Amino acid sequence: MATDPDFIPYGRQSIDEADIAAVVEVLRSDYLTTGPMIGAFESAVAAYTGAAHGVAVNSGTAALHAALSALNLQPGDEVVVPAITFAASANAVLYVGATPVFADVEPDTLLLDVADAERCIGARTRAIIAVDYAGHPCDYGRLRQLADKHALALIADGCHALGARWHDRPVGSLADMTAFSFHPVKHLTTGEGGMVVTDDETLARAMRRFRSHGIDIDAAQRLASGTFRYEMTELGYNYRLTDLQCALGRSQLSKQSAWLTRRQAIARTYDEAFARVPGVTPLAVRAQVSHAYHLYVVRLDKQSPSLNRDTAFQTLRKARIGVNVHYLPVYLHPYYQQLGYAAGLCPCAEAAYEEIISLPMYPTLADDQVQRVIREVGNLGARHG
Ligand SMILES: *Cc1c(COP(=O)(O)O)cnc(C)c1O
Repeated sequence: MATDPDFIPYGRQSIDEADIAAVVEVLRSDYLTTGPMIGAFESAVAAYTGAAHGVAVNSGTAALHAALSALNLQPGDEVVVPAITFAASANAVLYVGATPVFADVEPDTLLLDVADAERCIGARTRAIIAVDYAGHPCDYGRLRQLADKHALALIADGCHALGARWHDRPVGSLADMTAFSFHPVKHLTTGEGGMVVTDDETLARAMRRFRSHGIDIDAAQRLASGTFRYEMTELGYNYRLTDLQCALGRSQLSKQSAWLTRRQAIARTYDEAFARVPGVTPLAVRAQVSHAYHLYVVRLDKQSPSLNRDTAFQTLRKARIGVNVHYLPVYLHPYYQQLGYAAGLCPCAEAAYEEIISLPMYPTLADDQVQRVIREVGNLGARHG
């Protein structure tokens, strides 16, 4: 998109001179990839998220693929996935030859409905993927109970939720494995990138092999131990993140807690303003949760002509507000329809999809821009009824 100073996107990255200097330093060093920045970034993210191990990969999608691969699923095995998420959460299940089973979401938070997830569990179910939609952590107390009761792995898709906390425990310490994304619209960026964090050393080792062809010793380790010998023990991929990217990520991470505070302040301003706008309802936030606000999502009352989501989308875009919609229920995508998933599967998700819109949310969003968004959304509401 051509630069338009009045256009406010729904999300964007923040890069400063320290970030640039960190990348340049790696460019002048010996290792552009598979060097010391990988472990440094992994340790920093693991510490921040309360996990013992981090495994850096080159996208959030690769992180989900690595996590599922570490479970050694068989064709016919099933994984429960919420209907409202980015397609990658379910695609990763298909990558390993297993079958996604879509559970409905709670109407007020759009988080995985734990009771519906239980209804989806059968003899072939092996795992649950909990998506911390918009940055709100799922109900990990009930999810852990459910997973334990049925001997399932609990994977968190935390791509929206870096820095979020549930009962004062960070996302990253609440599931068996947690996937993060470092795409530019997410909390911190490496251009493209991702990471899985876990407390389980065996899973971490399996994912390190998986990201590098299924080989269990990397070039730097071979150099250090004076050997040319390596063995490929399983089929892996090249999903490695570079040192350039890890240096950027590590520099970005040092700003994350200030950024999170700013996101939460913007959300409070939006919440207070929209409490006075009939027909505009922000998603609910549960008690004992610290929300990371990757997205700020409101539901627009479908009954009002001016609040019809598609009309509101057009009106706001014309006002240079970069609203977006997250997401079409995954199984309604043509590819999933071809696989045989029928419309009507998750009624709450389908109803929510007709009414949701994501408003601009990123740390460098200025107060006057926040007020502009509030004014334009308020204008929609004024025509309500
Ligand atoms: C962004 C995202 C992903 C995928 O991350 P990439 O880094 O873009 O591959 C997966 N799941 C969710 C919920 C996401 O938002």
